[in-house]
Amino acid sequence: MAEFDRAATGGRVAAAAVRVRRAFVEERFGAAAVERYLGAVSPQLRSLLGGAVDPDAWVDFRWFVEANVQLDTLFGDGDLALVRDAGHFAALHNAGVWRSMFEKGVDPPKFVEIAGGLWHKHYDSGALVRTVVAPEVVHMEIRSMPRPHRAHCLSVVGWIEGVFELRPGATIIVDELSCRASGGATCELRLGWAS
Ligand SMILES: [Zn+2]
Repeated sequence: MAEFDRAATGGRVAAAAVRVRRAFVEERFGAAAVERYLGAVSPQLRSLLGGAVDPDAWVDFRWFVEANVQLDTLFGDGDLALVRDAGHFAALHNAGVWRSMFEKGVDPPKFVEIAGGLWHKHYDSGALVRTVVAPEVVHMEIRSMPRPHRAHCLSVVGWIEGVFELRPGATIIVDELSCRASGGATCELRLGWAS
């Protein structure tokens, strides 16, 4: 993969994971909003969102944070709720592979394990670790992110909520149990569902 910023110390993210935020703004708020968005972000992020960076490139994690915080500042209520929606959108944006897993009967614990195994396609640091705690309850921990941020954890929560909409049957409930960015010792989520 190409390097966008070799000096990144807070971890890096696949450029495509940042770019999809632009697609979210366009779908939810329209083309004029995209222009506003591009006008508000830093020049480096603007070039990334504008397509100047290979989607397979690794970019500094802070661009991911800025892209999310800025869309919430401009189009949301400043509480990062819209970041959760953007994560939800990202899950459904390229959903074919996830849908086919559910069609093959992959159950939620297995699905979360597979998603955790793909973590490093999106982030070059940290890990998504899952523990089955009951027949229909799974805990997930976002572990060892160098720079935990609410925008990232909420994005992951939204992604999980979105991707599980592809699963036939009952809704999955995602609860955040703790977050390092909010002073917690860990970043932990609980997934519950009915078979
Ligand atoms: Zn967190």
